Amino acid sequence: MSEAIQVMGLKAKLGLDVFKNNDEFHIKIVAGCEKDPRLKKAILVCPAGLYSENSEGEVELNQDGCLECGTCRIACGSDLLEWHYPSGGAGVQFRFG
Ligand code: SF4
Repeated sequence: MSEAIQVMGLKAKLGLDVFKNNDEFHIKIVAGCEKDPRLKKAILVCPAGLYSENSEGEVELNQDGCLECGTCRIACGSDLLEWHYPSGGAGVQFRFG
C-alpha cells in the first residue's frame, strides 16, 4: 500500500505563519524616493508581494505579512529603504519551517 503524499503550495505554507503587529513600521521607504526607479526592484523580489506601484508611479509598501527576509533591503539598499527587524515579540513566527 502506498500513502498519498500531499505537497503544500507556497500560499498554504505562508498561511501557517503567525504575525504579531505592534503598529511600528520596521521598513520605511526613504522620503522622496518613492518614485526612484531602483525601488521597483522591490516589487519584483519581495516573496510576499508587499510592494506595489500606485497610479502616481510611486512605490508603496504594505508591511502586513512581512517575512523579514531582507530581500528588499539587499535589492534596493539603504539609500532607498530604512530597514530593521521589528522590536521584540513582534513580527513573523514561522511554522513548520
Ligand atoms: S523583508 Fe522580505 S517579505 Fe519583508 S518586505 Fe522585504 S522582501 Fe518583502
